[in-house]
Amino acid sequence: MSRHQAYRNYDYENDLDEFEGDDGIEDEEELSPEDRAQMDVGTAQVRTALGTESSKVTTQQIQEALWHYYYDIDKSVTYLTTKFIVPLSKKKGARKGEAREQHVSHASFFDDMPWLNVSKDRQTIFIEPLRNRGGLLGGASTPSKMSKLQALAAARKKKADDQKSEEKLRRVTQHLGNLSTAPELPESTKENVRPLCPSPGEVEGLTGAGKTIIPERASFEQVQVSDKRLQDQPEIANQLVQPLPVTASSPLLVATPSSFARALLRPTTSSAASSPKTYSFPYMNVTSSSTDAFSAPSPDDVVLKAQSQASSKKAAAPATKKKADPGAKSAEATTDGVNSLRIDDAPLPKSKNLDVLKEFQKTQSKKSASFVVVGHVDAGKSTLMGRLLLDLDVVDQRTIQKYRKEAESIGKSSFALAWVLDQRSEERSRGVTIDIATNKFETDTTSFTILDAPGHRDFIPNMIAGASQADFAILVVDATTGAFEAGLKGQTREHSLLLRSMGVSRIIVAINKLDTVGWSQTRFDEISQQVSGFLSATGFQLKNVSFVPVSGLLGDNIVRRSTDAAAGWYDGKTLVEELESSEPMARALHKPLRLTISEVYRSTQSPITISGRIDAGSLQAGDALLVQPSGEKAYVKSLELDQEPVDWAVAGQNVVIHLSNIDPIHIRVGDIICDTKHPIACIDTFTVKILAFDILMPMQVDVHRGRLHAAGQIVEMPALLDKVKGTVTKKKPRIVKPGSVARVVVKMGTKVPLEAGQRVVLRSGGDTVAAGLLE
Ligand code: GDP
Repeated sequence: MSRHQAYRNYDYENDLDEFEGDDGIEDEEELSPEDRAQMDVGTAQVRTALGTESSKVTTQQIQEALWHYYYDIDKSVTYLTTKFIVPLSKKKGARKGEAREQHVSHASFFDDMPWLNVSKDRQTIFIEPLRNRGGLLGGASTPSKMSKLQALAAARKKKADDQKSEEKLRRVTQHLGNLSTAPELPESTKENVRPLCPSPGEVEGLTGAGKTIIPERASFEQVQVSDKRLQDQPEIANQLVQPLPVTASSPLLVATPSSFARALLRPTTSSAASSPKTYSFPYMNVTSSSTDAFSAPSPDDVVLKAQSQASSKKAAAPATKKKADPGAKSAEATTDGVNSLRIDDAPLPKSKNLDVLKEFQKTQSKKSASFVVVGHVDAGKSTLMGRLLLDLDVVDQRTIQKYRKEAESIGKSSFALAWVLDQRSEERSRGVTIDIATNKFETDTTSFTILDAPGHRDFIPNMIAGASQADFAILVVDATTGAFEAGLKGQTREHSLLLRSMGVSRIIVAINKLDTVGWSQTRFDEISQQVSGFLSATGFQLKNVSFVPVSGLLGDNIVRRSTDAAAGWYDGKTLVEELESSEPMARALHKPLRLTISEVYRSTQSPITISGRIDAGSLQAGDALLVQPSGEKAYVKSLELDQEPVDWAVAGQNVVIHLSNIDPIHIRVGDIICDTKHPIACIDTFTVKILAFDILMPMQVDVHRGRLHAAGQIVEMPALLDKVKGTVTKKKPRIVKPGSVARVVVKMGTKVPLEAGQRVVLRSGGDTVAAGLLE
């Protein structure tokens, strides 16, 4: 495949012409013999696919299309059909149809719309309600008659309301008594001084010379000393609501209002044509001000003064004032809160100073391995794992029966087994596994951890997290006719590529649902062959790949051998036997500690408990650890393995760690716990050797490593590499084609804990575009 083809395939010719010069199809020099041969085969295939229509296109058009679509026959045929064949027939048809179009009736225009073709039996029948319900629902103007009981309740409520408003009125009047102006006011002025809100009787006609101006709409209901604190401190309340003295000789003088103001405020007298006019505020509950509005302290000043008085009083007599002063109370509460936020300064946990590796060698009786289950959505992964756990007696029949009943009640009876793994109700109702549910089981020789990876496309990041922890993988393939082919085009391929890039080298292929094809050996062989070819092309060694024909639903060849006579031809291992014969990956026991946090939570043991798989090294209770990227130190208070307290844990184990002496804000899912003496560095730029799944160029990418992910950008592509030898085949390529191996430099927006030897996945627009190893 020439470089030019890849460019054309991805429609980058405009950009690339600039760099590469014009290298179109007519430039025969560019076609390698391999290309020429492929072009000839492609041309013939396109002609066959076009059938009788093939005469409508020229060979050059076909070859241009093949060139453009990188020998993709389907795409080329679609392009040629839409570009050259359909337009022709459309043009002919268009002329014929023109006359007809004018006669299309309006009724027939909607003929193909589904709502016109709803059969009678499926149409809704509206049943009239027996009686009007009143209000919005019934739409009747008169509500239905009240029952006696309702009438009694309504009367009681009315009485209580009346009592409440009387009480309110009494309280307000009492406050108003306090609202008199300062006592030093001369007697003559006093008669013109009015409280903030007069009695309703006084309101009418209170304008003009000699009268105090009162807001038209003001009423007693509108004046409420609602603030609880003010009710508690009447002296402040009085100051706050004290009205400004308004005298008869000083009516409100205002400039001629704008039209907006006129719309907003209405004149209080219709006859007052002469200026100055007085205006009331019908739409706002405000008081008119006097001419000398700034003679008294502003409300803010009053509050500030009151506060400073309160605080000085508190300082003078803190013990006696405590109860009466709600401000003091809240300050105290805040101090308490701050105290409770103090970093845990508990004594450091003690260490037993064990030689962990020696302890590990002593106790190692059983192998332990974790595996990931991948495959296309609906391939039957969860059902298969549910069956495995059921047949190994990890879950009992009663639980399965319960799930069966629940599943039947929502019409998905076949999901009962899958629910063993899909434990969360959200997953159940969707029928899709969306998180790594960690399930454990043991056989005579090995203890296994299932990291169930989801099959749904959106959940690939979870699968990456699962795959990065797995020793090996079970690839579930749906043998149902058509389903395998669809799966291979879809997630089966992407998952296998991901597995390889995440460092998984052993795969057990469970060819599932063979019951649906009558245990056909031919189908099994056909699928095995195709998957083998594909996996070896992806980089798996076939000695590490095995195939088992199974039925997850019925349990054949999973723990027990199939008893179906039609499956008699298979005498290989069952799935469990294959699992047991899989060697766990060598553990990095002697390396510095590295653990990627997969969960952070609060437990009875500690306010900060984390869990995750130890990628490298070991740890024991009492150890000091470093959390990256926060760089904070923490101590191991205690440890748990499989819900049992332990003193130590080593690489490869999924451990729960109760931490102490660290604030939870410094720990997040995806962070790395490491050795304090050999900490992992936080970097924002790294070089990675990747396998491209899609076309790569300097572009935005999301960097995933286990549960960690960060936004980044490919900033440089120093070299294309030989897939097998890893030698440089081309320096500074402008793009990297799918399937190629390259060295690229990625820069991230933030510093994250990453180091050489780790595997990362690059994603873009929701698709995995590359995966590889940090250099
Ligand atoms: P997942 O999305 O890969 O986890 O698939 P599920 O385990 O949810 O299964 C999808 C559907 O396939 C369910 O309706 C299962 O009952 C069905 N299924 C799973 N395994 C088998 C099998 O071995 N035989 C048959 N006939 N159906 C199966």
